Amino acid sequence: MAEPTVQKTHPEAAGSDVPHDAIRGEFPILQRRPGESPLVFLDSAASTQQPTAVIEAVADYHRQSHANIHRAVYRLSQTATRLYEDARIAVARLLNAAEPAECLFTRGTTESINLVAATWGRANLRPGDEIILSALEHHSNIVPWQMAAQATGARIRVIPINAAGELLLDDYHRLLSPRTRLVAVNHVSNALGTINPVREIIDAAHAAGALALIDGAQWIAHGPTDVQALDADFYAFSGHKLYGPTGIGVLYGKRRLLEAMPPYQGGGDMIERVTFEQTTYAALPNRFEAGTPNISGAVGLAAAIRWVQQIGFARIAAHEQDLLDHATERLRQIPGLRLVGTAQRKSGVLSFLLTDPPMAPLDIGTRLDLRGICIRTGHHCCQPLMQRLGIGGTARASLAIYNDRQDVDRLAEALADMAAQARRGASTASTGTDDTAATAFPTASAESPQAAADDLAEELALLPDWPMRHQYLIDLGEQLPTMPEALKTAANTVHGCQSTVHLAARRQPGAEERIEFLADSDANIVRGLIALLQRIYSGQRADAILAFDIDGFFARIELAGNLSLSRRNGLAAMVQRLRQLAASVVE
Ligand SMILES: *Cc1c(COP(=O)(O)O)cnc(C)c1O
Repeated sequence: MAEPTVQKTHPEAAGSDVPHDAIRGEFPILQRRPGESPLVFLDSAASTQQPTAVIEAVADYHRQSHANIHRAVYRLSQTATRLYEDARIAVARLLNAAEPAECLFTRGTTESINLVAATWGRANLRPGDEIILSALEHHSNIVPWQMAAQATGARIRVIPINAAGELLLDDYHRLLSPRTRLVAVNHVSNALGTINPVREIIDAAHAAGALALIDGAQWIAHGPTDVQALDADFYAFSGHKLYGPTGIGVLYGKRRLLEAMPPYQGGGDMIERVTFEQTTYAALPNRFEAGTPNISGAVGLAAAIRWVQQIGFARIAAHEQDLLDHATERLRQIPGLRLVGTAQRKSGVLSFLLTDPPMAPLDIGTRLDLRGICIRTGHHCCQPLMQRLGIGGTARASLAIYNDRQDVDRLAEALADMAAQARRGASTASTGTDDTAATAFPTASAESPQAAADDLAEELALLPDWPMRHQYLIDLGEQLPTMPEALKTAANTVHGCQSTVHLAARRQPGAEERIEFLADSDANIVRGLIALLQRIYSGQRADAILAFDIDGFFARIELAGNLSLSRRNGLAAMVQRLRQLAASVVE
């Protein structure tokens, strides 16, 4: 999987022969006390865990060296300044930048791309100019360009992909024209793992007279990067995907480009001289680092870079490739599992669906979590890609150097188990509920929302732990009345939910002050939450619905602590829709 860039030799990179267990042992979060089940962490594409070397470097900095950098005369501040600038040197070595001043510290990939779009973009784009992105891009490499395009009249063109998730390079070459000003693509797709031929993409952009920006968020921890060999004009990455802290990232840019760009944010540290009439700006890199930066983050990032270089990218790549091959083989053997993204050159990302019988990615993720396995579900910040693939989202397991075959085997066993269970469930499930049946909206389950909530709270209180309550919710969801397909319209779609949710609410015929509703989702856990809301709200008086403290109820049953934020947001979106209807009745 090695990118054809120059393999640099680092003084430290003597090719580590430390056993893999020892590398894994450096991650405190992966260690569990006897009796605890081990954490199977397979979400490193979202954020990697941190080794002790990074955690300690940040703590040491706070214990011994913290002060604001620049401008102070005292030695402590000079020490902090040196550590911060040493981190920049470490970044420049990692990227093989021509000089450290070309490496700007940002909050992460997102801010790095926004910086280029806001400064280079607004200064250089004109109506009719074109920016080429790819169908594989993360929202971070789409939305900033849309904003710049809107402000300048430039247009966005998109490189399409094939069914395996590979860029169609012939189409790319056809998109290039004298109107192309910039090509911005990721080095590796976070959703599918595709490794893009960035060298070729950059060369073609240059041949067309355009610049090239590479989103390296998903490559940086997995192989050697050489911005000079790539001839990248801009390269962005995040510390937290490289075993470092959150809130720190890098924008590399060629000096002549950065120098010609207007500043990004104004403030302290980025100026040379300020009067109320005029300000002259500082030289690189300070010109783009207004205000007090994330000093401890830079220190942590430098420690992460040292740590990765000690292991060496050759070893990291070989280990991850071996795991990827093993995982691909194991997942392929699971009946009903479909891998999404099967590019020839892939990094350690496995996106998949359970299709027979179908199980929503959200349910896959929730069930794996109950077994101590962390994966990510949903659109992975790539909604246009999901639309292109004709799916709402995927379940995604992603690998890092600390994973081992046991992690992969645990995932595969859990998935095989779940798929088998679902097949048994599907074959015994009753058939015959079809959409032509007269639509029955559920009536009130109790005298008032409060009485229904009290009943539910009592039932849940009988269950000792969250996994059992979770199962209880799923069981509730299985008893939801059928929602006819005809009601699953765009107008009835609830946004803000990670899974697909339809909700149809109306005044109760014959009792117009009452609200009743039907809802459905492709995810069982969401169906469970819908059932909860239905027991409380459906068939109740609008004024009672408005008066009922639903958040108090959620707190009482400890839902908040056990549901992810996106699930809570989805729940809140449903509650909001019902309350809006109730409010319109009361008026
Ligand atoms: C994670 C990721 C980003 C965004 O990174 P942040 O650290 O959230 O700013 C952008 N692009 C890709 C490919 C990513 O994987």
